[in-house]
Amino acid sequence: MSFALHGQAVSGGIAIGRAHLVSHAQFEVSQYQLRERDVAGELLRFDKAVAVAGAELDALRKDASAPGAPAELSAFIDVHAMILADPALTDEVRELIRERRCNAEWAVVQQMQQVVDQFNEFEDAYLRERQQDIVQVVERVLKVLQGKPRKLSRRKTIATDDDLIVVANDLSPADTIQFKNLKIGGFVTDLGGSTSHTAIVARSLAIPAVVGMQHARPLIQDDDLLIIDGTRGVLIVDPDIGVLEEYRLRKTELELERSKLKRLVTSRARTLDGIDVELHANIELPQDTVRVKDVGADGVGLFRTEYLFMNRDEVPDEDEQFEAYRSVVKALGGKPLTLRTLDIGADKDARALRDRAGNRGAPNPALGLRAIRFCLAEPQLFLEQLRAVLRASHYGKIRLLIPMLAHAREIEQTLALIELAKTQLRETRHKFDDTIEIGGMIEIPAAALALGPFLRRLDFLSIGTNDLIQYTLALDRTDGSVAHLYDPLHPAVLRLISQTIQSAQRVDMPVAVCGEMAGDPKMTKLLLGMGLREFSMHPAQLLEVKHQVMMSDTAQLATRVIKILKLDEPDRISEQLEKL
Ligand code: PEP
Ligand code: MG
Repeated sequence: MSFALHGQAVSGGIAIGRAHLVSHAQFEVSQYQLRERDVAGELLRFDKAVAVAGAELDALRKDASAPGAPAELSAFIDVHAMILADPALTDEVRELIRERRCNAEWAVVQQMQQVVDQFNEFEDAYLRERQQDIVQVVERVLKVLQGKPRKLSRRKTIATDDDLIVVANDLSPADTIQFKNLKIGGFVTDLGGSTSHTAIVARSLAIPAVVGMQHARPLIQDDDLLIIDGTRGVLIVDPDIGVLEEYRLRKTELELERSKLKRLVTSRARTLDGIDVELHANIELPQDTVRVKDVGADGVGLFRTEYLFMNRDEVPDEDEQFEAYRSVVKALGGKPLTLRTLDIGADKDARALRDRAGNRGAPNPALGLRAIRFCLAEPQLFLEQLRAVLRASHYGKIRLLIPMLAHAREIEQTLALIELAKTQLRETRHKFDDTIEIGGMIEIPAAALALGPFLRRLDFLSIGTNDLIQYTLALDRTDGSVAHLYDPLHPAVLRLISQTIQSAQRVDMPVAVCGEMAGDPKMTKLLLGMGLREFSMHPAQLLEVKHQVMMSDTAQLATRVIKILKLDEPDRISEQLEKL
């Protein structure tokens, strides 16, 4: 039966494909003791369930080997079939049914827990993470036991262009960044907000995504046919043939529009009144530089270096970081690289850093020891990163950006540590750019309201609107339940952004916006009207923003935006914004 679910649109476009469930499900199964005479029947019931689950996997494997199907799907299925065939899972379950007289569901869940615990002991992170596959296999068997067998074949079309669509209760930024190495067509999650880092990574991957769906995970089964409309925030499950065709058409149209924008790659981002605007790219990993060049960005305006620290057990040491930073700056071939120091904490979790500086179990992580606060509490770790960045600065133009500054004293401590890192490098005879520019992110309202120390002590500013909105409106950006209140057009937010731009320009200090607002083409004219001349965004959004820039007249916009900034009713602001 076809049905639709709605959530928050976080990354546009359309994906059509097969569901791949990622599980953190709670296994609440009935638990009861069998009567002696029921044991044989229960063993048979379990064996049948395993056989049905095996047949489902065989059927899936056939689909997955169709030409054009994503290779990853095949790999997932092979691993699952191996787990299902492994006596370590099934023999022990039989034993629990026979000896302890546990019902099959209960026995399966107990044995899964045992195996998962063993996996947790593994040194190797990759192997440890494979416990997810065991959980999914168990879930498949449980569904059969509970009388919810999968439909084996439900394809409405032979869809060689099917995407692999991940369906999860929630995904962390660390989970999502791994999609960069997989061919994932899109994803939906039940939790999450639109500027959570998970959503940001989706935009950087340019894959359609909808979060905050609330009920997708329990309602969808592996291999269900899905359509994600990432622009409208809609997920259609098991669409009928008419809807499917309509979306295939729309997908093709979107691809065509995107390819038309490609002709702007070499055009200058110059407004109608002849003002040049710099459009930079945001990246998470060194491999992203390829896309930065593809879209002709003026440089990298934000390298979120914390992603180098995720999904691993050891912190990357100074040499490893140096190599990564050098590879990016060299790949940029003379274009500037704005490299942000570690912004770990809040929703960005790196297990290698979890036990440091009391970082585990903070009562309110977004307000806790995050970003520069964490780095100043861990000066050795911070110095390693600073030395790595400085060493890389010898190979190209690097600017150093510090996240989450609020206090003058944090600026002073940071500058002192940068000086110390330079002294250490001089002692070890390493070369670096002694004139490297140091900038601060303006993403805490206190910083925007008390800019003095930033203007006096730093070389440039970059406004992080994602956090600025979160902290101005007291809304957790990852919490879907308050996502409707997360409003970039709130008058308080607009005034903070505009004041920051103006204060910086008054003293000739370069100022950029690198939060998600910079990559939203609906905001381009507003920001230009505020005086912004440097934007940084994910490469996927850059050409559309350039298109907006090229259709703008900054002098006209400035007058209109002054009026918008005087409004304090969000509806009127949106209305005026539409007219820009
Ligand atoms: C921001 O807060 O706007 C920003 C760019 O940083 P991040 O999204 O990584 O917190
Ligand atoms: Mg931020």
